[in-house]
Amino acid sequence: MTWEAVIGLEVHAQLRTRSKMFCGCATRFGDRPNANVCAVCTGQPGALPVVNRRAVELGCAAALALGCEVRSASRFARKSYFYPDLPKGFQISQYERPLAEHGRLEFVSGTGERQVGIVRVHLEEDAGRSVHDAAAGRTLVDLSRCGVPLAEIVTAPDLRTPEEASDCLRALRLLLVRIGACDGSLERGSLRCDVNVSVRRAGETALGIRVEVKNLNSYRHVRDALAHEIARQSEALERGEAVRPQTRSWNDAAGRTEVLRDKEEAPDYRYFPEPDLPPLVLEEGFVERVRAELPELPLARRRRFERELGLPPHDAAVLAARGAAADLFEATASLLAASGVESPQRRASGFVLNEVLRDLPDEGAEDGDDARSLVDAGRLAELLRLVADGTISSLAAKEVYRELPASAERPAAIVDRRGLAQRSDAGAIEEAARCVLAEHPDAAARFRGGNARVLGFLVAEVVRRMEGRGNPRMAAETLRRLLEGEGEEGSHG
Ligand code: ADP
Ligand code: MG
Ligand code: ZN
Repeated sequence: MTWEAVIGLEVHAQLRTRSKMFCGCATRFGDRPNANVCAVCTGQPGALPVVNRRAVELGCAAALALGCEVRSASRFARKSYFYPDLPKGFQISQYERPLAEHGRLEFVSGTGERQVGIVRVHLEEDAGRSVHDAAAGRTLVDLSRCGVPLAEIVTAPDLRTPEEASDCLRALRLLLVRIGACDGSLERGSLRCDVNVSVRRAGETALGIRVEVKNLNSYRHVRDALAHEIARQSEALERGEAVRPQTRSWNDAAGRTEVLRDKEEAPDYRYFPEPDLPPLVLEEGFVERVRAELPELPLARRRRFERELGLPPHDAAVLAARGAAADLFEATASLLAASGVESPQRRASGFVLNEVLRDLPDEGAEDGDDARSLVDAGRLAELLRLVADGTISSLAAKEVYRELPASAERPAAIVDRRGLAQRSDAGAIEEAARCVLAEHPDAAARFRGGNARVLGFLVAEVVRRMEGRGNPRMAAETLRRLLEGEGEEGSHG
């Protein structure tokens, strides 16, 4: 029997504001515990909340980037539950009339383009944080996170595999970071993902009973928790048991999900309209202003890289999935184009993809692509011009590049200081080429026998003989001439 998984995500994104959702306390991460609290965010009697305008703008930007319809009047409600890190006894959240609904997110997964519906985007405040101090056998409470603004983004149950779910989360994160709504750190918890998953017999259209797995803080956890949960549920159904609607957590060390509680239903929270806040009414022109300020979104950028800049689909996808590195590519390509270098896009994309991105953290380190750790486009273009005009080899360019991000030195100065300029004198190259051919008669024979790829090896040997500075293009030409010109002679030997 084959089972099909049905998956939907609930993502909490911390909005990048300086102050909290309903008070003036700072949202700074890493301050001393309980440093940023006041009467409002700890729910002292009589304290009144006031909505943070910036949080509304950022939530609205996220909703628009996800293609949602934004309501001009939404409402806040109280979601009541008891938890030690929730001193008010309720969370202010949008419930019946969320900020936005009916959107979609397009993303790439595996080899294909996929789309997931966005059910809603609403604003809410975060709860505090319980810090479990296992060694001392106690739990400490940090209320600084109470009242930090969040956008909750709920997808439709359109996802079918763990990979698709993690690719969808990746695309959502990229989008939120790109528009400046969220810093996107899964590690620090500014982006948190709950997954909802059920299984059903292949071909069935009704939805199965779902389980929610809370607080997955890496792409791998999302995939592993889903794979485990899909196996667990289908095995239960296979045995004729029912799946219980539950809220579970992921135990990464044990590699399994564990029950937290039976699934809570909306009535358990006793939602009711927040009496201390009027409806959130967006002023005339607000939504259009936010829309006008949105940057180009990652998917549009990917398509433009492909269609207008002529990048191969894979390169366009990899670059557009990066923030600052994609900006670097574009700026470098246009500087190269402006100075008349041929194939500016190919030169810039090749270097960014092969060299720049290689040093940048990727999976796991979600804070990668920090513009501060990148070289500036001006110097990268200068470096690639030195390659284009033959001053240095692309091998030397890689060496020069390694020094760039950490210093302000010009590429040309580094080339001079380190003596990396290419040696292009024909006599020296021919001499080195003759030596290499004499040392490697077998390779020479293979080339003459029709194996053209062996030329790459011989070129590298010539360059190496010239202290790594031989001009590889001239070395290749010279080798070819010597090998072809002396072919007769060689074959007699
Ligand atoms: P709750 O707040 O109780 O978790 P929501 O209505 O906000 O409920 O929905 C949570 C998520 O569950 C959504 O992402 C939705 O796509 C997903 N979902 C709903 N039904 C199913 C199902 N049968 N199987 C898998 N996912 C589901
Ligand atoms: Mg939920
Ligand atoms: Zn406060």
